[in-house]
Amino acid sequence: MQQKLSLKTASNSPSTYTGGITIKSNEELDAVRRAGKVVAAVHEALKQALRPGLTTKDLDIIAEREIRKQGAIPTFKGYFGFPASICASLNEEIVHGIPCNRVIRAGDIIKLDVGATLDGYIGDAAVSLPVGDISRHAMDLIEATKISLDEGIKAAIPGNRTGDIGAAVEAYAISRGYSVVREYVGHGVGRFLHEDPQIPNYGPSGMGDLLRPGMVIAIEPMLNIGEATTRVLDDQWTVVTADSSLSSHFEHTVIITESGPEITTGVM
Ligand code: MG
Repeated sequence: MQQKLSLKTASNSPSTYTGGITIKSNEELDAVRRAGKVVAAVHEALKQALRPGLTTKDLDIIAEREIRKQGAIPTFKGYFGFPASICASLNEEIVHGIPCNRVIRAGDIIKLDVGATLDGYIGDAAVSLPVGDISRHAMDLIEATKISLDEGIKAAIPGNRTGDIGAAVEAYAISRGYSVVREYVGHGVGRFLHEDPQIPNYGPSGMGDLLRPGMVIAIEPMLNIGEATTRVLDDQWTVVTADSSLSSHFEHTVIITESGPEITTGVM
């Protein structure tokens, strides 16, 4: 799940402020890893279940059952009043879609965002999946978004800054001709869903908070075929592209380690 961009990060100034950033202990990192495994298992269950004719609510029920089966709690449920366990966003919906009676159809792309809290620590991850056969341009968008996340993760190393992650995501997205959503960003994660630092999906490189071992961050690029501009629907949650163009989103929870980025939410 995204954090709405706040002014603090929008300034793009080099920051020495680390008061809000937590460095996790080894025990805490193990808890983050366990929560990440739950999230990966839920995504696997959703991928297996996904087919045309289901509603987004059906997927929410499957996800909540799987989360609780693993002894975890659906992190998003009740978060600022969010009414469901997962976010399910179709086509021009970017993020934060509320599961409902809307029927999923062949040709749709669906974005599923899952958060699970286990032993007080949180894992957060999202994927974009094709439903049945989808258009070539939709498939290309999904592929490019996934690779842009990989590029961002590669930059999540000690000594780099948050802007290096964003610059890597943005450079790849632009190289493929897509726009990058700027109003919602990745975030630190741990005991809380949205901790510092914010992780924008754009540069400049060399700016933003310093990445240090023991930090846990959710990196989550959102790429659009059309313009980057977003709009929130009347339900106060669902974020859509202002021009109704297709959007794709991927997210992993990543630990910054001395030996490089460690993905905790599995291969999806
Ligand atoms: Mg998130």
